[in-house]
Amino acid sequence: MTVLICGAGIGGLCLGLSLQQLKIPFQIFEASGSIKPLGVGINLQPNAVRELYALGIKDDLKRIGIQTEEFGLFSKKGLEIWTEPRGLKAGYNVPQFSVHRGELQKLLYDTLIERTKRNTINLGLKAISFKNLISSVQLQCVNTNSNKPEAFDGDVLVACDGINSSIRKQLFPDEGDPLWNGAILWRGLTVASPFRTDASMVMIGHDTQRFVSYPISTKDTDGNARINWIAELKYNPDKPWSKSDWSKKVDKSKFLNSFFDWSFDWIDPLKLISETSSIYEYPMVDRDPLQQWTFERTTLLGDAAHPTYPVGSNGASQAIIDARKLAFNLKVTGTNEKALLNYEKEMLPLTAKITLANRNSGPDALLQVVEDRCEGNFNDVQEIISQNELKAHSEKYKSVAGLNIEKLNNSKSILSSLI
Ligand SMILES: Cc1cc2nc3c(=O)[nH]c(=O)nc-3n(C[C@H](O)[C@H](O)[C@H](O)COP(=O)(O)OP(=O)(O)OC[C@H]3O[C@@H](n4cnc5c(N)ncnc54)[C@H](O)[C@@H]3O)c2cc1C
Repeated sequence: MTVLICGAGIGGLCLGLSLQQLKIPFQIFEASGSIKPLGVGINLQPNAVRELYALGIKDDLKRIGIQTEEFGLFSKKGLEIWTEPRGLKAGYNVPQFSVHRGELQKLLYDTLIERTKRNTINLGLKAISFKNLISSVQLQCVNTNSNKPEAFDGDVLVACDGINSSIRKQLFPDEGDPLWNGAILWRGLTVASPFRTDASMVMIGHDTQRFVSYPISTKDTDGNARINWIAELKYNPDKPWSKSDWSKKVDKSKFLNSFFDWSFDWIDPLKLISETSSIYEYPMVDRDPLQQWTFERTTLLGDAAHPTYPVGSNGASQAIIDARKLAFNLKVTGTNEKALLNYEKEMLPLTAKITLANRNSGPDALLQVVEDRCEGNFNDVQEIISQNELKAHSEKYKSVAGLNIEKLNNSKSILSSLI
């Protein structure tokens, strides 16, 4: 009764760790030959952090990341529009974390290796296709070292192979590339003095030019932290752009000039960009929500199922929730199609709403409202937009993303009744 997991990203590894907790056999197949700390910062929302705590990695998370305390929106002139507490400061009984994506992946990988006595993670095996059989499923891979094909049989197959999933491609051959909205994100990490609470996440600007930043570590003895930043510019979406590749490095000269006057007394985007050595380019892409994830003994999870714009801190968080919900159903119903369908029934509608909300009513949406009303210049923000409007928007998004404080505090970790 083996569960075949394609992809050892955040979603695939959390599924493996959850199945290990439930004593359900599994095998993970990862295209990369090694797990390197790739990527830059990501945020983990309290609903996902609660699940990571339940996986027993509370102390490790504290070691590799920082508990986020505040979220804020600012105009392109650096003026405060809206700020709200986050994580414990907001009243959740678990924190929000900002971490380095690659370090989180490595932590999950090392934990899984340590906990499983036999080899459950197969590196250098790239999934090519699958076949649903009568009472099993077969995954066909290519060994990236020998270039030889290898096949593996299991009870069910879970595609956790990210936004360019090969399993999803087989299921939806006409879908094509991810959908680009015209924005390009440049992402980087540099050591600098943190701003505001020292654990604040800020979004500055508007729809066509934006700068997002947050620290992913606490301060060192010099008072500096690792500061994650994302600079964003919007172009004509009809212009061709490279396929989504999280590891594409570019030179800052491509966009630095656009931020020449973005230096404020509390944060200096121009300096942060200028002092960063490795910068990664990524187009703002997602895919339309699907009607169905499960096809007999095969299903999709995380970015393979519901890639979304990274504006609401829910890419990794939602992959973790998916993994826990699927593990729950595999334990309760057995490693069969019914378990996959039950998981899909609960998670597909929720994640579809998040994907759609992130397109035009994510947490950042009110930045453009302020830009339209005053071009980012004001003395008193209340004259531009009411605090009630800002609060209502924030609450609405939290409810779509499953982050209602009271609801979350009154519920337990997803597998708590089974362990
Ligand atoms: C290298 C990398 C860097 C990233 N950097 C950032 C970042 O800086 N900020 C951010 O917000 N998000 C980033 N992301 C995306 C973010 O990690 C995901 O949105 C989120 O964690 C959901 O996780 P996932 O497990 O569904 O997908 P992912 O984390 O994308 O993991 C997918 C995994 O599947 C593997 N894979 C792909 N194709 C195959 C195949 N055919 N066979 C076997 N394995 C396969 C990949 O190598 C990867 O390990 C990055 C993803 C990757 C892969």
